[in-house]
Amino acid sequence: MAKLEEPPVEEVQLEWDTPLFRTALAQFEQAIPYADVNESIVARLASPERAVMVAVPIRRDAGHVEVFPAYRVQHSSVLGPTKGGLRYDPHVTLGECAALAVWMTWKCALLRLPYGGAKGGIRCNPRALSLPELQRLTRRYTSELRGVIGPQEDIPAPDMATNEQTMAWIMDTYSMQVGYAVPEIVTGKPVSLGGSLFRSEATGAGVVMVVERACERLGWNLAEQRCVVQGFGNVGGIAAQELVGKGATVLAVSDFSGGVYSERGLDLTAVRAWIAEHATLEGYPDAENVTNAELLELPCDILVLAALEGQVTGENAARIDAKVVVEGANGPTTIEGDAILGERGILILPDVLTNAGGVTVSYFEWVQDLGRLFWTRNEIRARLADKLNDAFDRVWTLAEKQGISLRQAALVAGINEVAAALKARGIYP
Ligand code: NAD
Repeated sequence: MAKLEEPPVEEVQLEWDTPLFRTALAQFEQAIPYADVNESIVARLASPERAVMVAVPIRRDAGHVEVFPAYRVQHSSVLGPTKGGLRYDPHVTLGECAALAVWMTWKCALLRLPYGGAKGGIRCNPRALSLPELQRLTRRYTSELRGVIGPQEDIPAPDMATNEQTMAWIMDTYSMQVGYAVPEIVTGKPVSLGGSLFRSEATGAGVVMVVERACERLGWNLAEQRCVVQGFGNVGGIAAQELVGKGATVLAVSDFSGGVYSERGLDLTAVRAWIAEHATLEGYPDAENVTNAELLELPCDILVLAALEGQVTGENAARIDAKVVVEGANGPTTIEGDAILGERGILILPDVLTNAGGVTVSYFEWVQDLGRLFWTRNEIRARLADKLNDAFDRVWTLAEKQGISLRQAALVAGINEVAAALKARGIYP
């Protein structure tokens, strides 16, 4: 048999070097001139600390075995255990997880949570798997990561296509392996297992708390704003509901099947009822149909991106017809898209600040689990508002002081927290 020729090592890019990771790195590089960092800190933070790839086999309901590629990336453990979501999606790659882990580091640091960033994923089409198959996949993935995740090491949480049930399976698998209940291994789990009240609404509600604070700074009345929301899942669905709760009008929402639009504003109760019955927005009768691409370009005051990354790009940013773009999703604006929106004077509320409500209440959940002492819903909502308002104000002030964008300011604030800790700790040994 002919010997396979391997390319020279210098021609092989780093395993996590994908377009999304380059976006995260480019944002980091844009923030460096304004941050209190030296070369060795930059070099350390430009790569994840640990990137794990596993192949997860499960028996499909039909009887055959299928193997799914899966990942967990931990970017920085300088400030504490790493923390980040787990997503099930056909496009998950190591680089995507690495990019999302980097953003989690800045986000946790910006919010002054004692965590670094992580992210995990399984490359699968979750809609093509039955509930028992998803359970087997989740449990085997958890077993494969024994020694990598843990309540003092790395704490998973829900992300795209994972939910409370997924977290319950992880908690149970981990607990069975160590021999006692370990609720603090995951956050975003059911309240019956030590989950926190208000966790499931926290990201979407937090998005709207940030929007509210921004409106105050801009001198706008949120109740007068016309909003478009891309994505109608955990983040977008709750954000849309909270916006309506504040008196704003939601003109359009979308899911993976497309969007619905009504110039008068949508009846979200009816939209929810339709989804509960039909699983998707497709076919919703009381509104105009729009594609996801068209939805992004609808005229509105506030455009909330709450679906997935790479939605506002160099190609469509010139046609975005909103005054404020709100990043509920992680990385929904590409570097090119960001530059064009900036030139056009469209304010961007950046992901690391805007969707930090989820990880903040996850932190509250972990603290409650470790202390075995649980707080009320109102207490949690109030603590979340305090945390987000404090972070928002620091970002706004830094942006004004340095003459930089809110994204750069949010990254600089996060990077400075990590860099200060890294400087104090030094490089081991
Ligand atoms: P989800 O799975 O609950 O919802 C995602 C929504 O996006 C669904 O409505 C889905 O149909 C829609 N969608 C999928 N593909 C789409 C496409 N091509 N075009 C338009 N819509 C599409 O996920 P989620 O938890 O709401 O997460 C959404 C985003 O928010 C992700 O970027 C995630 O990383 C980020 N995020 C989530 C949390 C959290 O607590 N859930 C926290 C921080 C950030």
